[in-house]
Amino acid sequence: MTVSLIDLKTQYLSIKEEIDAAVLQVLAQGQYILGPNVKALEEEVAAYCGVKYSVGVANGTDALLLTLLAYGIGPGDEVITTPYTFFATSEAICQAGATPVFVDIDPKTYNLDVKKITAKITARTKAILPVHIFGQIADMDEIMELARANNLIVIEDACQAFGAQYKGKKAGSIGHTGCFSFFPTKNLGGYGDGGIVVTNDEEIAAKIRVLRVHGSNKKYIHQELGYNSRLDEIQAAILRVKIKYIDQWNNARMEKANLYKSLLAGSGIMVPHAEPWNKHIYHLFIIRSAYRDKIATRLKDNQVSSAIYYPVPLHLQKVHANLGYQVGDLPEAEIAARETLALPMSPHLSNQDIQLIASLLKQEI
Ligand SMILES: *Cc1c(COP(=O)(O)O)cnc(C)c1O
Repeated sequence: MTVSLIDLKTQYLSIKEEIDAAVLQVLAQGQYILGPNVKALEEEVAAYCGVKYSVGVANGTDALLLTLLAYGIGPGDEVITTPYTFFATSEAICQAGATPVFVDIDPKTYNLDVKKITAKITARTKAILPVHIFGQIADMDEIMELARANNLIVIEDACQAFGAQYKGKKAGSIGHTGCFSFFPTKNLGGYGDGGIVVTNDEEIAAKIRVLRVHGSNKKYIHQELGYNSRLDEIQAAILRVKIKYIDQWNNARMEKANLYKSLLAGSGIMVPHAEPWNKHIYHLFIIRSAYRDKIATRLKDNQVSSAIYYPVPLHLQKVHANLGYQVGDLPEAEIAARETLALPMSPHLSNQDIQLIASLLKQEI
């Protein structure tokens, strides 16, 4: 492929000297897990998001799982979430022992349709877990209002939205807790696995700190069962370099998205909708067409990568068959799964490549 979906190599080369120096410094310093770089990264991420506490963990899935456990969410509890997300969202809910309750999406933003949440709240509902899908924050004012009225916890799955904003507030800082992934392809990604939880709740931050190191707050003293879910120093050092560029990179994504949008105007292909109060950072650039599969084939024939996020909505995944959902239960998520396609997107994508892709999309199907 001449145009890749996510260009990580060009990004590395653009900051190679800083990254190499940071990694070598960790190797020489001799402390490799939960050391000074993790502590500094936690402070930098908390300051960036505008929250008091942040706790580095092994990955975004664990950020969600440890957060659910810290709130005491488990067997018998229900967590309202979206079916149109990466599987880790519902997987974490199930690993905590709770039951995901799926609510259909808004077909314009692909985020939770907040109008449909109330009907799914029961006496067992403990939390709402919105996902800021593709880099745009869900309708958090409505979600927080519902949570207040029904005494629910709100955990933001912000794994695709580092630096995105909603009415001037950063992703992760609006709910009770926000969870991020530093998987390499995320808009703020390391060169391995990593994740972080942000919150203003001191007690929850302290509980996650204990859960991430085998349920221990003093070496070799264990009061509860925990996990081995730590962020390593090399990843933290890399992320401390990259976080300095995140606004610049997110802004570049927005410029690339706007170029795509202007070139595709009038083509009949639906481009992403950004709510005016949101800073959508286009973690992925998602188009929509009834001819999705033909478009993907044409791109492939012309050496352009594209990908389907996500071909099977979570309520129809085999692993969740026990939850009893049928085809047709969440129609917007099901149609989106058939019609959406991610086009190449990264801060380093050239305008020429965008022009090439747009011209391929505009040819007659
Ligand atoms: C990537 C992702 C996760 C999981 O993060 P990992 O670091 O891969 O464990 C969870 N939720 C969403 C929405 C994601 O995109």
